[in-house]
Amino acid sequence: MPLDFNAIFAEILRSIEPDRGCGKVADYIPALAAIDRMKFGMCVSLENGDTHCVGDAEERFSIQSISKVFTLSMVLRKVGDDLWKRVGREPSGSPFNSIVQLEMERGIPRNPLINAGAIVVTDHLVSDFGPAAMIDELLNRLRMLAGDPSIAVDEDVASSEASVGARNRALANFMQSFGNLHNPVEETLAAYFSHCAISMNCRQLARAALFLAFNGRDPISGKQMVTGEACRRINAVMMSCGHYDNSGDFTYRIGLPGKSGVGGGILVVSPGHGSIAVWSPGLNKAGTSHVGSLALETLVRLTGWSVFV
Ligand code: GLN
Repeated sequence: MPLDFNAIFAEILRSIEPDRGCGKVADYIPALAAIDRMKFGMCVSLENGDTHCVGDAEERFSIQSISKVFTLSMVLRKVGDDLWKRVGREPSGSPFNSIVQLEMERGIPRNPLINAGAIVVTDHLVSDFGPAAMIDELLNRLRMLAGDPSIAVDEDVASSEASVGARNRALANFMQSFGNLHNPVEETLAAYFSHCAISMNCRQLARAALFLAFNGRDPISGKQMVTGEACRRINAVMMSCGHYDNSGDFTYRIGLPGKSGVGGGILVVSPGHGSIAVWSPGLNKAGTSHVGSLALETLVRLTGWSVFV
């Protein structure tokens, strides 16, 4: 029997109501500080092209670290397993911008979904494409998948983050001292800040990630975005590392590969079923949307879409 998304969304709205507005917005990036914490949007994208949306699902927000899933897809397609010489694939158990493990592990970040690892992925792509062309390539993929040529970098958010980017500069310089950054720090970081500052809405994000639910092949366009093997690996890394020091709790509660961003978005993949994007700007201590996680918990309970069934 097809799922009744109207009933599912009604139940989700009931389940989040007491917590609506809870959490703290990511005010360490000045341009994100003024976002309304009451916002909530969600969209589910299915194999047959149907999308089911609720709330502020059409409003664009800063995708921030969710972009790391798409840069990881690009780099695996380009360099394959060579990536793992420069970045690990173990959960960090540490905050997203932590530096401590980098010294013990000689400049090799724990995984590609924390800041240090994503900066290495970006550095790889800057070497392969050039700094501007890598952003163009990423935007073109997102525009093609989401069917919207207007998807773009919010330059105000990118320069806002660059103006307060001391921690990411420290990470990048530290990795460079171990030889694990191949381009000038400022060049790689400019590309990193740009892809974090891409604006998309829940509908576009869910749609753009649909290939991750179907063995790397976008079921609508028929395009093979990554190999089936790379797709399984991306989902595995999202499952174990997608939410920094909150990854274990997220997997315990939701049981799906996912990636959060400090803009309040969470992207989740249910292999064989569909992809889901949720947005609510109030964050928990680890930088994952508080209300977004609650909504996903309810969605998984009602759909039976957890990979652990
Ligand atoms: N651009 C943000 C940063 O580097 C991304 C962090 C996040 O979304 N967790 O701090």
